[in-house]
Amino acid sequence: MRTFDELLADGRLESDVPLGPLSTYRRGGPARWFLRAESTDDLRIVVPDEVAVLVLGRGSNMVVASRGFDGLVVHLLPTTEGLTIDGVDVDAPGGCPLPLLARRTASEGIGGFAWYVGIPGSVGGAVRMNAGCHGSDTSDVLVEATVWHLRTGAEGRRGPAELDLSYRHSNLTDDELVLAASFRGVPSTPADEEAAMREVTRWRRETQPGGTFNAGSVFKNPPGDAAGRIIDSLGLKGTSVGGARVSPRHANFIEAEDDATPEDVHALMSLVRDEVARRGGVELTPEIRFVGFA
Ligand SMILES: Cc1cc2nc3c(=O)[nH]c(=O)nc-3n(C[C@H](O)[C@H](O)[C@H](O)COP(=O)(O)OP(=O)(O)OC[C@H]3O[C@@H](n4cnc5c(N)ncnc54)[C@H](O)[C@@H]3O)c2cc1C
Repeated sequence: MRTFDELLADGRLESDVPLGPLSTYRRGGPARWFLRAESTDDLRIVVPDEVAVLVLGRGSNMVVASRGFDGLVVHLLPTTEGLTIDGVDVDAPGGCPLPLLARRTASEGIGGFAWYVGIPGSVGGAVRMNAGCHGSDTSDVLVEATVWHLRTGAEGRRGPAELDLSYRHSNLTDDELVLAASFRGVPSTPADEEAAMREVTRWRRETQPGGTFNAGSVFKNPPGDAAGRIIDSLGLKGTSVGGARVSPRHANFIEAEDDATPEDVHALMSLVRDEVARRGGVELTPEIRFVGFA
């Protein structure tokens, strides 16, 4: 275990690292301090309360403001080190990319993970967000997550109930980091799982704005309805602020054109949320995490 001061003294922390290239929106300001964590051991650090901390996976559910993050960003590099399979039991490091988890389990004939092929996040991000789609979510396959507390250095294991996993929700706080996760799939065959992954990919290609800068669904679906349907029904597809626009393809996506700033994305999210509340009478909650905005 290392302390923030030790990391600083040892030159292990970089400073003023641009976060834009590390997010799927490809924009956003710098981190004051930045730790590139190559192994699970690198993540066992303790940070004092006065230093704000942000855990970053693949940045596929996040928008960082142009002014950046005035604290320490702990970045889990993409890795499959520690990815092990025993029957239908799968252990994966927090930084493991979800599409790799899907492909690896499929090739071993393990079912339950194919839908991860379309989610460009990490295992840690999936646990924190209880990521899901196609009628499945992370709580269906998660056995337990190994969680590290960045303030106290305490390490513990929590299952789906202890993590309070529900629709795009966990009780993980910003001070907690998922080091690794254990999953349990179901017996299947590589052919069936590859067919399931092809179907997920086909569905996404047909319904989502591929090839654009976005972070997936902007808002959570309200109970019994779909945020995209509501936004579309109010004629908001194509609405823009600066270089950000509501996707003409899927109303719950905000795409960033080349000249879009993070503030454009944030302002458009606020505009859509306010219009839906005013004209549709529905309070939408963002699913995307906005970092560093007032
Ligand atoms: C094209 C596209 C399609 C998408 N489709 C879906 C979908 O179908 N379903 C869905 O649920 N999501 C979807 N997403 C959103 C996103 O991919 C998921 O939420 C994913 O789980 C986020 O993982 P990440 O590593 O990118 O997290 P990040 O964006 O890096 O972080 C998101 C949150 O998780 C926290 N976090 C990240 N890693 C850790 C960790 N190791 N420990 C603790 N906290 C952590 C961060 O601090 C932050 O609060 C989509 C995104 C895109 C761009």
